[in-house]
Amino acid sequence: MAGSVKFEGFSATETQDLVRAFELMKDGSRKAKTALLGGDLSAFNKWFDSTGTRSHLMKVSTIIKEVDDAIQNRSITFANASGNKVDKEEGGLCGYVWLIQTRSPGDAFSSAAHFGSGMRVMMVMRTHRTLGDLAETMYHELSHKVGGTKDITYKKATCQGNASANPQLAALNAENYNLFLREYLS
Ligand SMILES: [Zn+2]
Repeated sequence: MAGSVKFEGFSATETQDLVRAFELMKDGSRKAKTALLGGDLSAFNKWFDSTGTRSHLMKVSTIIKEVDDAIQNRSITFANASGNKVDKEEGGLCGYVWLIQTRSPGDAFSSAAHFGSGMRVMMVMRTHRTLGDLAETMYHELSHKVGGTKDITYKKATCQGNASANPQLAALNAENYNLFLREYLS
């Protein structure tokens, strides 16, 4: 089954960038999965567990694999979230908008955000600068959607610090996943 991607509500210029960023992410995701499942743990050690115990290797590998499966095989729609009301109270402040308040408080994940067999991912363009940033944002959002990751911290230094001080938090935090992906973007 071949995957497909759609972009909804973006300008022509934005869509061009998003298409290129998606291809960049797709390539990076495949490389990341291949490395991890092939036993190359250099990026894993850096972003998820530098203690050497590999205690969360299974969990992280599963998320990396499932996100990659979604990217390669599923139908994904990225929708422009700029006009929506963003719930920044729930689940932490996701700089890229992951929670969209579609109904009432406590019902943020309504059926409006999930339909059919495909996946719908909300994005805001203004927070992005480079194609790499966009690729990372898509991956960050997909880690929430597919892997159930949380927003614990967006700070790069804290993300890396958690890999040594608290690998459990690193394995749960969405930003750690896009920083991991960054190691494989070219
Ligand atoms: Zn997030």
